[in-house]
Amino acid sequence: MNGRDMSGNLVEFAVEGGRFVDGEGPETVDLQKRTVLPGFVDSHCHIIPMGLDLQKLNLSGLGSREQVLDAVLEWHSRTDSSTWLLAVHYDQTRFSDGAHLTCHDLDRVVPDRPVLLRHSNGHASVANSAALKRAGVGPETPDPPGGAYGRDANGSLTGVLLERSHEFVTSKAPEPTLEEMTDAVMRAGRRMAQFGITSATDMMTGRWNLERELLAYHRAAQDGCPVRLRLSMQWGTVLGPRRIEPGRLREILSAMDEERCKSIGLKIFADGAIGSATAAIHGEFTGGGNGTLIYQPDRLRAMVLAAHSEGWAVAVHSIGDRSTDLVLDAFEATGEPCRHRIEHVMLLSDRQIDRLARLNPLVTMQPEFLMRFRHSYRRQLGQERAFRLKRARSVLDAGLRLSFSSDAPIVPGDPWDGIRTATDRPEGFDPNENIELESAVRLYTRAGAQANGDEEWGGEILPGAWADFQVYDGDPGESGPVEVWRGGELVASN
Ligand SMILES: [Zn+2]
Repeated sequence: MNGRDMSGNLVEFAVEGGRFVDGEGPETVDLQKRTVLPGFVDSHCHIIPMGLDLQKLNLSGLGSREQVLDAVLEWHSRTDSSTWLLAVHYDQTRFSDGAHLTCHDLDRVVPDRPVLLRHSNGHASVANSAALKRAGVGPETPDPPGGAYGRDANGSLTGVLLERSHEFVTSKAPEPTLEEMTDAVMRAGRRMAQFGITSATDMMTGRWNLERELLAYHRAAQDGCPVRLRLSMQWGTVLGPRRIEPGRLREILSAMDEERCKSIGLKIFADGAIGSATAAIHGEFTGGGNGTLIYQPDRLRAMVLAAHSEGWAVAVHSIGDRSTDLVLDAFEATGEPCRHRIEHVMLLSDRQIDRLARLNPLVTMQPEFLMRFRHSYRRQLGQERAFRLKRARSVLDAGLRLSFSSDAPIVPGDPWDGIRTATDRPEGFDPNENIELESAVRLYTRAGAQANGDEEWGGEILPGAWADFQVYDGDPGESGPVEVWRGGELVASN
């Protein structure tokens, strides 16, 4: 095959047995000198949730409480009322006064059927009274550690759910079956392949039931899911209270064809998100408070050490700078911080960047967040701190092993939206942190493969690497890829 790279240089390659090979291979395709890039690697997203969300009510773009209520009512009237009404991409910061909907507002349009509107940031939701009741949450229910039930001036529930409270009520909705999960992986895989993604990492397998989710990924891989599947399993489902039987885990993982589907370690959440003022930050949010640590520092360190000593790599969600200090303490305590990953690191001081450079863990960022959540970031942090979010240029200049990813379905997850945001940050964000187009593409390909431990085979067009690539008519990014190949097989054409 021959095509051109992003600089217009001719690239010639052949494919045999699913890999790029030297010289002439038996499988040849004339790409007519179109532009060819390695397949994108989305090393942090949520695959089953993405597939499930594609079938839920989507509230993105609705700018008032009335519009949201109309959409809920309309969806209610044309869906099965014996199920929960689940909506995604709720965001009160789009309303003119920034005030949440309440359970009372929702009860007026849907009184009996449980309704749950999930916030765009994935860390909060609003429930109606039927959903609170199903979850057994009442006026006397105490806030769980690391979470809060919204209450009005009289102490009555408002239906607003933050962090652990949001997770708790969400967990009371009926769990998807194995069949539904497998379909969701396939649906998400097809969506991602259209974006040019050939490898994706589920960054919290075990949200419902680890065994069922692993089986769903395994089945989808066997059924020809267009993307390679990498799985980071929730810590508690392997080493904590919801632990799967270790022999059963080994059995399931060893049945997987690792090129198509494999586990890459364990996931831990250290804090929340900026949009819900739950990221653990130094200083305070504009509305007060310094966020929520999900675990006390000693507990976090014990969890990281336990995983490390069992041979797992960990990936720790840490958005705030206060949380990042504690995660780095825990990584340092393992003696091998370079084996682990820190996810998001949205607020970083120069001192923290130096420390990251010394410890050298893998670092991931999701540039598309700046494009989708800029208003809520400025509202919660003020302009000055928001200006310095996601310091990709500084992190790269410090020599850190940075990769880009999406965190879909929190955002739609087209890698070009992330790449464009990283090369030309939206107004209000420090333009000195912009990076070059070719670096941004590398962070979404080669560096993503490295973040997944696939550096030997992934993210490059070189002999021996997986033949995962995408073909563009004209300039990449102006429109999507016209062809996407995974392991030398055409998996999407647009
Ligand atoms: Zn995530």
